[in-house]
Amino acid sequence: MDKDQVRALSENERFSRRNFVKGAALVGGVAALMGVAGCAPAADDTQDNGASDESGGSQTTPRTIVETLECDVLVAGVGIAGLVAAVQAGENNLKVIALEKQGVVGGNGQFTEGVFAVDSPLQKEQGIEVDRSYIMHKELQVSQWITGGEQWTVFLDNSGDNIQWLLDQGCKFSAVSDGEGVAEYPVIHFWQNKKAAEGCFPFLQEKADSYGVEIRTSTPFDGLILENGVVVGAYAKNESGEDIQINAKAVILATGSYSGNEEYCRERGWSLDGVTLDSTIYNADGIRAAINEAGARSFVPYATFNATNHLGNFYYQDMFTYHAMSNPGDALFVNENAARFIYETYAEENYMVQCVPNLTQKKIFSVFDRATMEKWANNDALYPIEGYTPMDLDAIDNSTDPALAVAGSIEELASKAGLDAAKLQATIDRYNENCTLGIDRDFGKTSEHLLPITTAPFYAAHITASPGVMIGGVETNIFSQVVDILKNPIEGLYAVGVDGCMLYRNIYTFDTACAGANANNINSARVAANHIAGKVA
Ligand SMILES: Cc1cc2nc3c(=O)[nH]c(=O)nc-3n(C[C@H](O)[C@H](O)[C@H](O)COP(=O)(O)OP(=O)(O)OC[C@H]3O[C@@H](n4cnc5c(N)ncnc54)[C@H](O)[C@@H]3O)c2cc1C
Repeated sequence: MDKDQVRALSENERFSRRNFVKGAALVGGVAALMGVAGCAPAADDTQDNGASDESGGSQTTPRTIVETLECDVLVAGVGIAGLVAAVQAGENNLKVIALEKQGVVGGNGQFTEGVFAVDSPLQKEQGIEVDRSYIMHKELQVSQWITGGEQWTVFLDNSGDNIQWLLDQGCKFSAVSDGEGVAEYPVIHFWQNKKAAEGCFPFLQEKADSYGVEIRTSTPFDGLILENGVVVGAYAKNESGEDIQINAKAVILATGSYSGNEEYCRERGWSLDGVTLDSTIYNADGIRAAINEAGARSFVPYATFNATNHLGNFYYQDMFTYHAMSNPGDALFVNENAARFIYETYAEENYMVQCVPNLTQKKIFSVFDRATMEKWANNDALYPIEGYTPMDLDAIDNSTDPALAVAGSIEELASKAGLDAAKLQATIDRYNENCTLGIDRDFGKTSEHLLPITTAPFYAAHITASPGVMIGGVETNIFSQVVDILKNPIEGLYAVGVDGCMLYRNIYTFDTACAGANANNINSARVAANHIAGKVA
């Protein structure tokens, strides 16, 4: 199991451990018919046509096409959104070819536990009623009205029907709940055994087979084919690295966004301090092609995310990292200037925001003392947690991990962490005064989390973050069509799943429409496949 798999599984595990329990203990993405009909070019033996290369630019070497294929719909990426798009297009009697870069289908989608919905058949059976106007209002408010209300309307309208459609495909759900307080309403439809790999993928793959969908694994999408601004197909590489041309009436991008693309991650604001991204899978292939080749409107700098905080080589599921990294907010956070910049309880309601400071600061240190450590070790912090590895204080004190400075004085601590000693002392003095007063005069942190830093040894933990799943990349309209800089659809081009998710800007509202990312994966994919069918018909 490689590092990414471990990280992904760990993410899954954390979700299942209910990181959040509200109020008390928290643990644990020119609509004319001509665009999609009958525009596929004849195969050329050799072409130089601006397909994307590894760096996101245009392929400069001419292509030697070893195989040419024809279809109605070309799906790039067979994670959950790509597979749903392929099945829905197949159900609509369209000839589908689906390309998957990896040797197996599934993407990150195979790790999902559940799907958000309102007014689903399962909710109706159980008499569950959800105030969708509340969800709409909150979603618009938390995004500061920068997300699209019409997109949310379509999403909410379709969410219940999408669960019915999944049931019709044979998918299995085990429960509908609020995830023990993770969500504000019982909106999470958990797959069988909380595993999409069990409750979803086998059934959708069977359906895809029955509709004659041709899925090619180890065959990465490698760029778009355009004629007069209309997308009329795509290129791919076969297992030998040779060029394939697929002429299609429409191309659906579903490549899972850009969490492995360093340029885009930096554009979004991640410092990536000490983080090495794996660009082999999530290198934004779909997004880069849409932007660089088809002139799509980018929202790379505003995409939301599912990211993970890190504390050096410490495994985050022990009690130490749980407390030190952000939740529930007992430590003092300072930046590279040794200045405080946030109330440390900021991630209290939405676990997904824990990494936000990594977007706003160059460096982050979580600072605390021995007394606080012992409080955590005794699990008598305000939010005791269950199921986490107990803390080994000696191991922490003797750690040689450069991400953790341990010192007998604040001066020494500053020196080890590379911070200005006088400034750090001043920040701690001010913070301690607030603790004594029981009032955070600077950031308004609740008094119960004001724990003074007075008892040696002192600790400064350098917190970094790496993006797990980015949610968004290119702008799409309510039909999942990719739009250009003028917000007009680019004919023949669709983006679904996290490549084109328009529901979020900035923050993934994990607490409100919990598992909404997955609901969008399914909805955007079905919407695209149905829109294409309407055009081709
Ligand atoms: C551990 C974990 C648990 C999660 N749990 C939940 C949950 O319970 N609920 C929820 O809402 N969200 C959850 N998420 C987020 C969820 O996984 C994503 O929203 C979802 O996977 C996005 O679907 P997608 O189809 O857009 O991308 P993916 O499912 O990641 O699929 C993208 C696919 O495209 C392929 N690809 C990339 N480039 C190319 C190329 N050039 N050519 C061909 N193929 C390519 C990839 O190999 C991949 O198979 C979780 C994420 C993780 C990591």
